[in-house]
Amino acid sequence: MDKILHQPLGGNEMPRFGGIATMMRLPHLPSAAGLDAAFIGVPLDIGTSLRAGTRFGPREIRAESVMIRPYNMATGAAPFDSLSVADIGDVAINTFNLLEAVRIIEASYHKILEHNVIPLTLGGDHTITLPILRAIHKKHGKVGLVHIDAHADVNDHMFGEKIAHGTTFRRAVEEGLLDCERVVQIGLRAQGYTADDFDWSRRQGFRVVQAEECWHHSLAPLMAEVREKVGGGPVYLSFDIDGIDPAWAPGTGTPEIGGLTTIQAIEIVRGCQGLDLVGCDLVEVSPPYDTSGNTSLLGANLLYEMLCVLPGVTHR
Ligand code: MN
Ligand code: MN
Repeated sequence: MDKILHQPLGGNEMPRFGGIATMMRLPHLPSAAGLDAAFIGVPLDIGTSLRAGTRFGPREIRAESVMIRPYNMATGAAPFDSLSVADIGDVAINTFNLLEAVRIIEASYHKILEHNVIPLTLGGDHTITLPILRAIHKKHGKVGLVHIDAHADVNDHMFGEKIAHGTTFRRAVEEGLLDCERVVQIGLRAQGYTADDFDWSRRQGFRVVQAEECWHHSLAPLMAEVREKVGGGPVYLSFDIDGIDPAWAPGTGTPEIGGLTTIQAIEIVRGCQGLDLVGCDLVEVSPPYDTSGNTSLLGANLLYEMLCVLPGVTHR
């Protein structure tokens, strides 16, 4: 079967504010069959610990994605010239039961990954990355990880619960999903539950890049180091929007001051070019706290930049 190169609906075919808002105005397909990459929403917010609202993240990210055009004028990436990409809709989570929702997400991703597709996930709170990583592990084995976040998300529990948005990467380590020597966490800051919160990550072999190390710098040199650290095998990219300063990304549940800039976020994603990315997510966008829509707009564009660095993307 010949590959179908789906294209975003152009602004001259239907006004950008018209029609049904899929990610980047791509076709909505019922499954990942035949696709190289698929946008998927996971509208979960019952794993959050402060402000909720990420259940509306996928819908708003799609709404703010309508102006994204196909060609990346900075990097030359032309993702739709070589990859078959579409929006396969949302996972039908159970919004009353977190553990059941996690089970549903994992089962959904096992099914998606029966196809030879790279999932690009619109969150949803950060709890969703654990079941996604379980499915990724089943298909690819242990993966390296590029994790951007204000928080390490390595708590042993939250309010006694082992599964929540702040425990994701401790569970991932315990379950053997990560190649710990190929993990980098970027943007961590603020206060810990304990004084050695970030040291737990370091003891696993992670490279921890606290936000202060990023202040006032281009992150292009850091990304050369990151590629060296996480390369050599499959890599997952997990981007918590709260890694970016609330000045640029206020629409999130647990904002922390002194974060990364929008420009540094772009440098990080573009710096993943050349890695064997097997999946990406953009999590923690909470539209009720995003009065301008800028956080969703940023999330949508970062997902586009992720698409642009996937293996197999043509450059012009
Ligand atoms: Mn997080
Ligand atoms: Mn966070």
